[in-house]
Amino acid sequence: SIVTRFAPSPTGYLHVGGARTALYSWLYARKTGGKFILRIEDTDLERSTQESVDAIMEGMTWLDLDYDEGPYFQTKRFDLYKEVVAQLLAEGKAYKCFCTVEEVDKMREEQMAAGLKPKYNGMWRDRTDHPENTPYVIRFKNPLDGVVVIDDLIKGRIEIANAELDDLIIARSDGTPTYNLTVVVDDWKMGITHVIRGDDHVNNTPRQMNILAALGAEIPKYAHVPMILGDDGKRLSKRHGAVGVMQYRDNGFLPEALLNYLVRLGWSHGDQEIFSKAELVELFDLANCNRAPSAFNTDKLIWLNQHYMKTLEPAYVAKHLEWHVADQKLDTSNGPALAELVKVQAERVKTLKEMVEVSRYFYEDFAEFDEAAAKKHLRPVAAEPLAAVKSKLAELTEWTAEAVHGAINAAAESLGLGMGKVGMPLRVAVTGGGNSPSLDLTLTLIGKARCLSRIEMALG
Ligand code: GLU
Repeated sequence: SIVTRFAPSPTGYLHVGGARTALYSWLYARKTGGKFILRIEDTDLERSTQESVDAIMEGMTWLDLDYDEGPYFQTKRFDLYKEVVAQLLAEGKAYKCFCTVEEVDKMREEQMAAGLKPKYNGMWRDRTDHPENTPYVIRFKNPLDGVVVIDDLIKGRIEIANAELDDLIIARSDGTPTYNLTVVVDDWKMGITHVIRGDDHVNNTPRQMNILAALGAEIPKYAHVPMILGDDGKRLSKRHGAVGVMQYRDNGFLPEALLNYLVRLGWSHGDQEIFSKAELVELFDLANCNRAPSAFNTDKLIWLNQHYMKTLEPAYVAKHLEWHVADQKLDTSNGPALAELVKVQAERVKTLKEMVEVSRYFYEDFAEFDEAAAKKHLRPVAAEPLAAVKSKLAELTEWTAEAVHGAINAAAESLGLGMGKVGMPLRVAVTGGGNSPSLDLTLTLIGKARCLSRIEMALG
């Protein structure tokens, strides 16, 4: 059965590129009834941090990408890697290289001077005259000829001549294993059948396949996902703004929107844009992944976010809104339930962050009215309509949208005015500004006492 993995290096947050490969690996496992493993590749001790591990896990949780095994940590598996290196050495499939750094540098310089691609020349490959008490690295004996063929599930067939590959260092002079070795050992020992990862790793793949072959391991299938570009056509990076998954949470996106966005960024199913997770599990296929890089498009992500804010259960959206309420220090204990807020605001805003920003008047009184709105709608003409609507509202015995609507109508009629001449001043009076959901709903949610006292303030 199928086993996939997501294998991030904890040297930063979970970025959108990583999240997308995680999603593809997760979907492929879920679709096939296989297993999805999380493996933290933390062998670079200088760059790996606990904060970054936490950030990756937080991102996986927020996106709700659950794993069947893990997280495994490579730093806890050094004994295993050392065993495998020793085995390769004992079988003559790897060798000790006693070159000094200077020697290797010199080798490169000479090759470059001769117009050649720098490459370790294999000088210790077959030597047995090993010096004593001299540091050494261990190199893999890459096959000298033939070609490695990757039948990439996304990119198609890729061929690399072994003559292009040098004898990779698999253990450093301090005995620690290198990146390509640990990946190979883990993919092998974890029974990974499908390696789905960014195409920045495509150059590592033939090397890893050669090591796997030397170990007698089954070689997994590879699917290299093209990179994500920014709107300027360059590889997506911090320069382009938000690249960390949690930054999208902070900016007010729902995980459903980001997942839907990321899956479409590099995969398609006809021209369908909206996919539930269940649908994705059914429809996702590596064969329909794009070979070309895709450009990140924030407008489309916003469009998806609006779709999900409007269509997901308000109570569920409200749960995600809580984070923003806390972030913006809005005390919502005195006002409408968040789910009610979602119902009236979802189609009016782009993000959850914005939803909270424009909803303070539901919970908090304000000291002054928005200047432009007040100038336009409150002064100098609004006293009469406001006074009329205030008295109609004050008479209401039930505070429902219908009743409020009726009171506004009655006030307008009594003065022979159009609805707008009463409605806009009223809106500014009760919300402080010129934008809000429909008046009847807005007033209902703000509550009677608050509405009356705010109209009072506008009249004063
Ligand atoms: N740890 C690697 C990275 O974060 C991924 C390795 C792999 O997927 O094989 O780039």
